[in-house]
Amino acid sequence: MSEFPRRDVTQNYIDGRWASPSTTAVAEVFDSNTGAVIGSAPLSGRSDVEDAVAAASRAQQGWWRMGAAARAEHLRAVARELEARHEELSELVMREVGANQEISYGSQTMTPVMSFNTAADILESYEFIEQVGQNKVAREPFGVIGAITAWNFPLHLVTVKAAFAIAAGNTVVVKPSEIAPLTAAVFAEALDAAGLPAGVINIVFGNGLEVGEAIVEHPDVRMLTFTGSTRAGRRIGELAAQKVAKVALELGGKSPLVILPDAPLEEAVRFGVQDLLLNNGQRCDGLTRMVVPAELLPEVERVAADVMGGVKVGPSTDSSVVVGPLASQTQQERVREYIRKGIDQGAKLVVGGLEEPEVPAENAGGYYVRPSVFSGVTGDMAIAKEEIFGPVLSIQSYDDLEQAIEIANDTEYGLHAAVYGGDLDEALEVAGRLEAGMVTVNGGGMDLLAPFGGYKQSGIGREFGLYGFEEFLEVKAIRVPT
Ligand code: NAD
Repeated sequence: MSEFPRRDVTQNYIDGRWASPSTTAVAEVFDSNTGAVIGSAPLSGRSDVEDAVAAASRAQQGWWRMGAAARAEHLRAVARELEARHEELSELVMREVGANQEISYGSQTMTPVMSFNTAADILESYEFIEQVGQNKVAREPFGVIGAITAWNFPLHLVTVKAAFAIAAGNTVVVKPSEIAPLTAAVFAEALDAAGLPAGVINIVFGNGLEVGEAIVEHPDVRMLTFTGSTRAGRRIGELAAQKVAKVALELGGKSPLVILPDAPLEEAVRFGVQDLLLNNGQRCDGLTRMVVPAELLPEVERVAADVMGGVKVGPSTDSSVVVGPLASQTQQERVREYIRKGIDQGAKLVVGGLEEPEVPAENAGGYYVRPSVFSGVTGDMAIAKEEIFGPVLSIQSYDDLEQAIEIANDTEYGLHAAVYGGDLDEALEVAGRLEAGMVTVNGGGMDLLAPFGGYKQSGIGREFGLYGFEEFLEVKAIRVPT
């Protein structure tokens, strides 16, 4: 296997230029397929955040006053430059996150292009001022937005926030995840090549406690948009409350798929397992709990074991691999720990387990786990309650519909839920009773114009579409004389 060229990011992108950080510390970046170091990025300091916020503040009024048409043009130029770097970005995601080739070359790197184009479309047709009764209501940008993101969709999370925030006329300071920072550097190159005005998007590399909290606490950052764990989201919410700044939080999930007794069983189970395995289970909205009629349990176990046991596990550099490695050693240990807990707490291991998957010798240092299915899972078990963020499915059984809904909603999270049934009307009725920001019915697909976000401890606010765009706008009532 040819060695992946090392990529060391040594500077932040501030005010339209590459700027050396105030510190010399770096975070190493690992190839999840092999465990080899493939690069690094700065662990910047608080003064770098100061510089970035200052640049974003200086740029903001000019960017807003430039007008919607000109801003939309800039957004489209960024989309083109991202597309031109598609191959490079996909290869990086494949290494940093372990996503298989379909995902690395697909949603991981194409959604960012779509985000910039969709935000431009929305901007071009958006009415920033409307008449409401005797008043006018104007929508205006907040000013400088702080964006902090997780590692699982490293480019998408950075770009969806940046695209919609700047479309609305804000400027942005982004902190990408220190675990997967490399695509953000390529994004900065794309911004440069697209001729985006200086200071509109600034990228500061670093960790959460130093750079992340400096962004959250900065008095000139008027709104925070965050994707990550509920734990960090709670902390960001607390800090933001001190300065009464708005937060939009996209947090964790423990999403159920309710299979109704009349569902086409094989199709429904297959759908659930395949959904869970996307991005190797490293998804906040993955359908990690399958809630099934007790009388169908043996059949569900058989199909789930068949599908899960049949997928190829290995390096994502191999195009026939379905489940690649996890993003980091920490994540690998974490997921293995949950598999251990599942066994210890008495769930029935249907397929998978703690044995290491077989991979080629040169991949021995990678972060692989065996995709696993547990059955007989009860609500008190860790694998039913906590977010695992890996390819581990928990099957829970129910006796009647009321109990199915109770089990599905018995979680502190509420990001995504799904229902599969033979009768669409009944499935839609069940969908109406599931406590989640997004509900998939009978395998329906996702639309970037529809809102993305969660109920309960899965977050506050929405991304994508008009809903995501309006998150980044303040509302001003203008009382005109009548
Ligand atoms: P994380 O919370 O550890 O880190 C996310 C980001 O926050 C990183 O950039 C990190 O440096 C930063 N951070 C950490 N502590 C901070 C603090 N005190 N102040 C400011 N910034 C801080 O999460 P992760 O491990 O990178 O990602 C996994 C989590 O993200 C999972 O819980 C997953 O569900 C969630 N996630 C949610 C969505 C969604 O849309 N709802 C999407 C993807 C991932």
